[in-house]
Amino acid sequence: MTNPLLADWNTPFGLPPFDLISDDDFAPAVDAALTESRANIAAIAENPDAPDFANTIEALERADEMLGRVLGAFYNVAGADSNPKREALQREFAPLLSAYGSEVSENKALFARVEAVWEKRDELDLTDEQQRVLMLTRRGFVRSGAQLEGKAAEELRAVKSRLSVLGTDFMQNLLADERDWFMKLDKDDLIGLPDFVVATAKAAGDEKDAGGPVVTLSRSLIVPFLQFSERRDLRQKAYEAWGARGANGGETDNRGIAAETLKLREERANLLGYDTFADFKLETEMAGTPGAVRDLLMKVWEPAKAAAENDAKVLERLLHSDGFDGPLEPWDWRFYSEKRRKELHDLDEAELKPYLQLDRMIEASFACANRLFGLEFKAIEAPVYHPDVRLWDVTRDGEHVAVFMGDYFARGSKRSGAWCSAMRSQQRLSGDIRPHVVNVCNFAKPEAGKPALLSYDDARTLFHEFGHALHQMLSDVTYESISGTSVARDFVELPSQLYEHWLEVPEVLAEFATHAETGEPMPEDLLNRMLGAATYDMGFQTVEYVASALVDLGFHDGPAPADPMQRQAEILEEIGMPHAIRMRHATPHFAHVFAGDGYSSGYYSYMWSEVMDADAFAAFEETGDPFDAETAKRLEETVLSSGGSVDAADLYTAFRGRLPGVEALLKGRGLDKAA
Ligand SMILES: [Zn+2]
Repeated sequence: MTNPLLADWNTPFGLPPFDLISDDDFAPAVDAALTESRANIAAIAENPDAPDFANTIEALERADEMLGRVLGAFYNVAGADSNPKREALQREFAPLLSAYGSEVSENKALFARVEAVWEKRDELDLTDEQQRVLMLTRRGFVRSGAQLEGKAAEELRAVKSRLSVLGTDFMQNLLADERDWFMKLDKDDLIGLPDFVVATAKAAGDEKDAGGPVVTLSRSLIVPFLQFSERRDLRQKAYEAWGARGANGGETDNRGIAAETLKLREERANLLGYDTFADFKLETEMAGTPGAVRDLLMKVWEPAKAAAENDAKVLERLLHSDGFDGPLEPWDWRFYSEKRRKELHDLDEAELKPYLQLDRMIEASFACANRLFGLEFKAIEAPVYHPDVRLWDVTRDGEHVAVFMGDYFARGSKRSGAWCSAMRSQQRLSGDIRPHVVNVCNFAKPEAGKPALLSYDDARTLFHEFGHALHQMLSDVTYESISGTSVARDFVELPSQLYEHWLEVPEVLAEFATHAETGEPMPEDLLNRMLGAATYDMGFQTVEYVASALVDLGFHDGPAPADPMQRQAEILEEIGMPHAIRMRHATPHFAHVFAGDGYSSGYYSYMWSEVMDADAFAAFEETGDPFDAETAKRLEETVLSSGGSVDAADLYTAFRGRLPGVEALLKGRGLDKAA
């Protein structure tokens, strides 16, 4: 029997035939697809015809068609519905795929053809999109070292392989430190802890065989402990253990790894012709240069610090009124901030939840997309990879736009978090290919017959992921490599974070946040408290985040520091870090930056996107109508349909008439009043 992954898919909209695919089909399909990819690459590299755009760049776009189709289905089930077999397959595929990737980027004959097309690009009469794809393709080769020869090429290979070992070690050390530490809580030690924290502490104690409740260094336990524990001595002990992860001496200490990593990254950048690693990393980002990143971070830093210092004074008074002398300490912040929050925005989750029904929130996200972009959603049936998955045919003016899949409920087989992925991306090179987009979330599943209810955070997550989905569904490009969300890392969160703003539009909540039993809309007072709570303590949150981003940047935009801990201390001193706040992630446990280089000199990008989403939503607010048709049309024509076919800064400028300013973000975070 033929492997269903490799056969034609005679399913509605060409969706993967999940009812026919078994786990045993994946490995042979990946194997066959890799063989096909390799044959395609060899055919391009060895083509006797003179290199041109079609026989080189377009051929490369098509080379992995089968592989993409197989992996699209596989990674979707591996993330959203895993099992031991699928986990083993993931471990098996990773080295195969990375070996294939290296083969392609190190193929000299192939690169020579890409380079030849690049050299004569001005004579080829290419469209703007084709020029962009050519530039990106060549840049990818150059950045992975295709231009290096002999000793330099070998050095680069050695540096990259050592860096990947260091990244894995860093993460494993961190996990070991997080796993090893716990603190037993006797009866007197539970004072102040709400039931849900006690329950979590008990479950953690059972897991550790500790014979009673414990605090661990898991964020979901230590943060509420620091928020609620009345025992200042225990808060201090737990906080200090949390801050010491990766810096406890011995075998799991990450400080040496951090120093070596920074040194090797500098070497890698130098080998490729860049002054610093930040120059190398930021070349492909919207920000472009370390200077632009620092500029933006500092514009946010000063007002955030001013707000945090005002807040610290209030919290310190609360500390003193509890009979303690001396300054407010980092282990006090969350505790007194929680007390103050209760006074200012008391919010009972139980009171709120019945108003946020999953189905109504899905309807709300669809209704906004309908008002803004004219999209319509019709539920359809087709084979799915899990019975909880729901499918919609997305149309506009009667024409098919995309298939949207929602996989909303938590289950043991799903990894944590929420994400959006495309099992198939939009493109026109191989016919009019429309996307298959899936949103995966981890919302609590209700008892049978009861409606699923969300927290406000959940509802925001739903809108966030749907914003990514729109970026995929509204994509309108020719080439898959630049389709949908294939954009710079510091640009990719713009559509998603922007979409969250429509959840906060009062008329949307008034229509869709209705009580599960009575159908009544959410009372205005509750609505205001909910919105107020969502932006509370922003000075603290901004300071702990921006400090981490500035340290990350400082590590990478000059010579590698011999002692990163000393450099970290210098940077914090220079920016005047408030006494009672520490970095959200200090160097020895800064996994974003050291467990792989995904976010190295890139931790700023969360803030960068937030500046943009606030500024972009202000474009709607300025018209007086959050659904202003002309602004929505411009948003689609510039940002949402273009994928990576145009430089991100140019797309944004086309939408807004200028680059983003920080004012809307400061206003949204309530930081504009403090400075
Ligand atoms: Zn996102």
